Amino acid sequence: MTTEPMIELRDISVHFGTRPTLGQFLRSAPAGIVRAVDGVSLAIGAGEVVALVGESGSGKTTTGRALVGLSPITAGSIHFRGQDVTHLRGAAMRRHRRDVQIIFQDPYESLDPKQTIGEIVSEPLEVQKLGTPEERRERVVRSLESAGLRPAQNFLGRFPHELSGGQRQRVAIAAAMVLEPQIVVADEPVSMLDVSIRAGILRLMLDLRESRGVGYLFITHDLSLAWVISDRIAVMYLGRIVESGPAEEIVRHPRHPYTAALLSVLPSPDPGRRRPRTILTGETPDPSRIPSGCRFHPRCPAARKYGILERCMAAEPPAFPTGPGSSAACWLAEPGSDVNGRAEPDAGGDDHVEPQ
Ligand code: SF4
Repeated sequence: MTTEPMIELRDISVHFGTRPTLGQFLRSAPAGIVRAVDGVSLAIGAGEVVALVGESGSGKTTTGRALVGLSPITAGSIHFRGQDVTHLRGAAMRRHRRDVQIIFQDPYESLDPKQTIGEIVSEPLEVQKLGTPEERRERVVRSLESAGLRPAQNFLGRFPHELSGGQRQRVAIAAAMVLEPQIVVADEPVSMLDVSIRAGILRLMLDLRESRGVGYLFITHDLSLAWVISDRIAVMYLGRIVESGPAEEIVRHPRHPYTAALLSVLPSPDPGRRRPRTILTGETPDPSRIPSGCRFHPRCPAARKYGILERCMAAEPPAFPTGPGSSAACWLAEPGSDVNGRAEPDAGGDDHVEPQ
């Protein structure tokens, strides 16, 4: 499997203005700017699964929407097969959409209740003006069957409300795959589904990667799921990727305190090695009020533990390389630092590390 970038985000930002408060309006003061995505670089190779992980409000969904052209970017660029596709419009953008598709989180809302399953899966082909009606019908049948809805004839004339949640998500996958895209953004594709049917949907997505070489940006808040299904993991916090690298490496040897905290509440991948639990207090801050310096510093237990809080408040760390294909944006990962590699508190104890 090649990891040459099929698609690349280069230092993209998605900022937008907030509605002014009454006070701002009366004082003619400027409204706030939401920095939903704030300088994100990410590449996905052919047939590669990259998981984008973070809490709610981290900017992961906006990043996925930007990748498929649904959220306009305010800075940076997007490259597909080496070509700049940032400013495609009209027919060129429509052509690009054949290659890059999205599956939404909620199969109850993403399908038009007034359309039949046949119409839903056929619509992308019609928008793209591909094939004769007969050819389109054949492609719809093939796509439904490869999404596990067999025989397809039993589904073509039915409506979404007649199907189960798992079947609806399979229809959404069939509609995304009917154009034979190279890259699919899957935004929490199983989080709304019953646990008993999640495995089937995930297996289907991975089968399609094997059979068609589809690459995925898999958006999830669940780091253990990301570990199971992805080749690489990128951890996002408040609009930025704070750590990225091979999935196994990230899970076994996190270098950013935020990643370490997310992992500390999961079972350890190494039996016999207990991870001290790190309980983060507070929510992800408002992206219109990003803290100074390292944006994680108000919640970071390690900055206090290692006595570097002042530095963390003063300057935002760049992404330091931490190994082949991996990096962490934390002063603890700075080469030569005497606290290098201390993101994860020493294992084995009963530490209950909380910010003070
Ligand atoms: Fe914590 Fe400082 Fe690292 Fe930010 S730079 S994650 S505040 S230790």
